[in-house]
Amino acid sequence: KAKLSSKGEAVCFEPHLEDAYLARLLQEQEFLEALDRNEISVAYQPIADLMTGQVMCVEALARWYHPKRGAISPAIFVETAERGGLIDRLGEAILRRACKDAAQWPDTVQINVNLSPKQLISGRFPALLARVLEETGLPPSRLGIEITENVFIDFADDSIKQLRTISSYGVKIILDDFGTGYSSLSYLMMIEVDGLKIDASFLRQLPDRKVEAIIRTVARLTADLNIYLVAEGIEQPEHLAWLRENGIQFGQGFLLGRPRADPPLDFIDLAANTPA
Ligand code: C2E
Ligand code: MG
Ligand code: MG
Ligand code: MG
Repeated sequence: KAKLSSKGEAVCFEPHLEDAYLARLLQEQEFLEALDRNEISVAYQPIADLMTGQVMCVEALARWYHPKRGAISPAIFVETAERGGLIDRLGEAILRRACKDAAQWPDTVQINVNLSPKQLISGRFPALLARVLEETGLPPSRLGIEITENVFIDFADDSIKQLRTISSYGVKIILDDFGTGYSSLSYLMMIEVDGLKIDASFLRQLPDRKVEAIIRTVARLTADLNIYLVAEGIEQPEHLAWLRENGIQFGQGFLLGRPRADPPLDFIDLAANTPA
C-alpha cells in the first residue's frame, strides 16, 4: 500500500508491513518449538456453587511460560496457534492433559476445556475426543467443552454436526462469554447446551440497573431451560454478594480462586470473601 504524503510523493509502507509479517512468523515458529519442548502447561480455575462454596468444576486454561519473555497470554498465543495451523496440536495437548488430571480427581468435579472453532475444520475432533476419553478413563459426563458463538459463525453446518456428536457421547456443551456477541439466543435452538457462562463484562458494570436486569433475565432463562449459569469474572466481594442475593448459582473469578496447577477440589471458603 502506498499513500501520498503532504508534499505529493509516494510514501511506501511495505517495509513496515513486512516487519509485522516476520514478527508473526517468528512467533509461530517459537510457539511450535514451545509445543515440541513441552513448555505449554495447563492451569485450572475453580467454578463453585455460590451458595455452598462447593467446587463443581474447574476450567482448563492454557499457559505458555516463555524462557525469556515470561508468561504469554493465551489471548495472544491461541491466535498465533490458529494462524500457524497449530491449534489442533495445542487443543489436543490441553485436552489430553486436562482429562488425564481430572481422571485423578474426586468424581464430584467436572473439567471444562475451551474449544477453538478452528479445531472443527478438519472434522476429526469428535474422534480425537472419544480417543482421549478412552485413553484417560475419564467418564464423558465429567467433561465439558466451552465454545463461543464463533463456532456457529465460522463453519456453521459441519461444526454443529460435530458438536451434536460430542453431545451424544454424554460430554457437556457450555456457551462461553455469553452475551457479548450477536444473537446468542438463537444458538440455544441449534444444539443442546448444558450451561451458559455470562461474560465478565456484565459483572464489571455492577451496580447498574440495566446490567442487573440483564443478569437476572439470563438467570431466569437458564432456569427455564434447565441448564446451569456461571457468572464469570467475580473479583469484588460486593459482586459475589449481589449474585448470591439474586440466586445465581455458580461463579468463577479471581475472588474465588485464580487459575493454578493445583486448584481446590472440595470447598472454597466464601465467608472469607463476603463483605463485612
Ligand atoms: P475464557 O475461556 O473466557 O477464560 C476465562 C479467562 O478469564 C481466563 O483468562 C481467566 O484467567 C480469566 N479470569 C478468570 N477470572 C477472572 C477475574 O476475576 N478477573 C479477570 N480479570 N479475569 C479473570 P486466560 O487464562 O488469560 O484466557 C483467556 C482466553 O484465552 C480464554 O477466555 C479462552 O478464550 C482462551 N483460552 C485459554 N486457554 C485456552 C485453550 O486451551 N484453548 C483455547 N481454544 N482457548 C483458550
Ligand atoms: Mg472458557
Ligand atoms: Mg469465558
Ligand atoms: Mg471470557
